[in-house]
Amino acid sequence: MLKYAYNKKYGGFIMSNKQTYTNFITALKQLDCDIAFIQDPTTVSLLTHYTTDPHERVLAMVVSVNHSPLLFVPALEKNMAQAAEPTYTVISYQDHENPWEILTSAIQKQFDLPTKWAVEKNFITLHTAENLKKENSEIQWADDLTPIINDLRLRKDADAIQKLKDSGTYADKAVEIGIQSLKEGITELEVVAKIEYEMKKLGITSMSFDTMVLFGDHAADPHGIPGDRKLRKNEWVLFDLGTMYNGYASDMTRTIFFGEENAKEVRHQEIFTIVKTAHDLAIQAVKPGMKASQIDAIARDYITEKGYGKYFIHRLGHGIGQSCHEFPSIMEGNDMILEEGMCFSVEPGVYIANDYGVRVEDCLVVTKDGCELFTHFPQEVTKN
Ligand code: MN
Ligand code: MN
Repeated sequence: MLKYAYNKKYGGFIMSNKQTYTNFITALKQLDCDIAFIQDPTTVSLLTHYTTDPHERVLAMVVSVNHSPLLFVPALEKNMAQAAEPTYTVISYQDHENPWEILTSAIQKQFDLPTKWAVEKNFITLHTAENLKKENSEIQWADDLTPIINDLRLRKDADAIQKLKDSGTYADKAVEIGIQSLKEGITELEVVAKIEYEMKKLGITSMSFDTMVLFGDHAADPHGIPGDRKLRKNEWVLFDLGTMYNGYASDMTRTIFFGEENAKEVRHQEIFTIVKTAHDLAIQAVKPGMKASQIDAIARDYITEKGYGKYFIHRLGHGIGQSCHEFPSIMEGNDMILEEGMCFSVEPGVYIANDYGVRVEDCLVVTKDGCELFTHFPQEVTKN
């Protein structure tokens, strides 16, 4: 789910990259369509200076090569949308009105009776399609915008990369706060509350996903939900968290030891070292020209060679940007060639039910001859 991001510097709105809009229009020229009809809030956020979560209300952005764009928002967002994009036509509707009627008639007027509509086929619902057709039976569904938009998201420019680094700095801080708060008897949820309270005080309006803090063998669930489990001495603690900052997400995982160094179970420490080494080997291999699948294989082959391959039950990583999970997927079968500006996570893990779970995760950007990490907190930590 999209999260709001508040930017003090620009009066409450995220600044996105105008070049992305220009690139989108260039791509649109290649398609056989009259308009591009966009509804995914993350796409609207990518192409405009406006970020919103409309919940169940109707949001739309309509763009064409020859006309100025139109934003269609609920009435309660009209002022914010117009302030974010003063040159756009902003049309709104109130809850008691029929949004489809107002939207289609505004489109007819602004775009000279367009018939060929390109849409995001992975986002538009049958409900939306039927409602639009009911108002305007002339509509023909034209090309799919999804591949174009995915491609625009794939390579980040310097501005976006800086924002990802800033967001990563806050994630580092959040992990540090979490580790400082550990003490015998504290619950997982209390640690989550502590982290999120302190992050709010630092100006972070939202985390990029629900903060995960898991004690001991609970970390063997890769998507475990923090609860009232109490921390005991000499347990491992897994933190998986991220923040939204200036509209960009961070995402990192640390698995640290709470207790006395000499109380660590040898086997658990060995598994930790295997996962951390797999993480380091993958990161060292990242550079333009490598395939996404090769990076996954480097980490996976190492873990397999050490005997724990069957416990590494997810892809190595996912893209990151304005959303926490996007392209490229770093996994077997994805032979996409890495290019400068692509940003993704490297997060190998080993999960042995009722015993032990460990993951080490950092996000990075592919640079000219390697990569640069967004998070820098030490990976191997013991907290007494
Ligand atoms: Mn991740
Ligand atoms: Mn994560």
